[in-house]
Formats: sequence, C-alpha cells, structure tokens
Amino acid sequence: MVATGIGWDVHRFAAGRPLIVGGVTIPSEVGLLGHSDADVLTHAVIDALLGAAGLGDIGEHFPDTDERWRGADSLDLLRSTRELVAVGGVEIAHVDATVLMERPKLLPHKPAMCENLAGALELPLARVNVKATRGEGMGFVGRVEGAAALAIATLTRPDD
Ligand code: MG
Repeated sequence: MVATGIGWDVHRFAAGRPLIVGGVTIPSEVGLLGHSDADVLTHAVIDALLGAAGLGDIGEHFPDTDERWRGADSLDLLRSTRELVAVGGVEIAHVDATVLMERPKLLPHKPAMCENLAGALELPLARVNVKATRGEGMGFVGRVEGAAALAIATLTRPDD
C-alpha cells in the first residue's frame, strides 16, 4: 500500500540562537528556540514520516523533556527516524515540505537543505523537495515571531 503522513512544526525566534533549517546554518540575527537545535523543517519531516508509518509523533520518540536531546542535531533525529520507519519492507518514496519564514530568504539555501534531508534519509535527491514562503506580514510568521514548516511523506508499505 501507499501511505502518506503530514507533519507540522513551529518554533519561536530568539536572539542568541543559531538559525538552522534543514540542517543548514543560515546567517541571521535571530535563531529558533527549542530544546534541540529547533530545526523546524526537519521536525516537520520527521512527523510526516512517523505519521505515514503509523508510529505516533516526534514528541513520543524524542521528548523535549529528555536531556539526551538537548541541543540535538535534528538530522541525527531524522536518521534515527529513517531507521524506525524503513523496516519490514517499508520504503520512503518521497518527501515534500514547505517552510514558512518571513526572513531571511531561504531560496539560496534550499539545495543544501534538500541534500541534507535526502542524505539523512538515504534517498536520491529527486525524492526530496523543499519549498519556502513568507507570511506577507500577517500572523506570527509575518510578524517574525517564529517560523513554521509543514511536510508530507509518502511511504510504500507491504500490504497488511
Ligand atoms: Mg520542533
């Protein structure tokens, strides 16, 4: 069967934090606040994969109350997610995601984000797509209070 999962994440902007999106550290005066590296894009992709696999959500597997994940590299969490998901004949077919961030511009960084995500998932680049859009001044994204990401993952699973 083909199974899809959605993922959604938000993180608040804060001074003195690195801005890491899709494993890329982007020059910025503010970064995203979180227990891990607060990589909003990678977290959304993780939730999409867990959803498609029927394995709950990121908070169950990598709780933000666990000191093991403090400052965690979210690409490491994504690698662990691939190991959880890609078992028993399950294959990751495709991942697509959108980052909602007012600034800085993500366009120059999208190829590196795709490479990082595809690398962690051991997928060909053609199976991973990252898009970026702004909040047009509206809502928490537009006011630069935080950033959001949504993702969809498609898995092929043996018929059950
Ligand atoms: Mg998160």
